[in-house]
Amino acid sequence: MPLAPEREISSWGEYRRVKLRLLVLLFGWLPFGLILGTVLPAVLGSYTPSYVLAIGYALVWAYTLFQYLLYPCPVCGRSYRGWNLYRRSCPRCGTVINR
Ligand SMILES: [Zn+2]
Repeated sequence: MPLAPEREISSWGEYRRVKLRLLVLLFGWLPFGLILGTVLPAVLGSYTPSYVLAIGYALVWAYTLFQYLLYPCPVCGRSYRGWNLYRRSCPRCGTVINR
């Protein structure tokens, strides 16, 4: 049963936020990794804080990736992409992914 248009719009807004967060984390790794590898050890005198922050960053990125992959379809409520990053429509109900 299709949801009301207002609900679908808010659901797509959340979907876009998850997607944007995933891309920011993906491309943000380079400057963040440079800071972790150069500036932080020079300031603190140890690589241990860099390791801890790098592991935390990887965990947040992995969580966001799972959120993106398992995002529920606004029409049928099942996982939208499954494990396929390039899927363009819901495999169960055929709803086209709103980019
Ligand atoms: Zn669906």
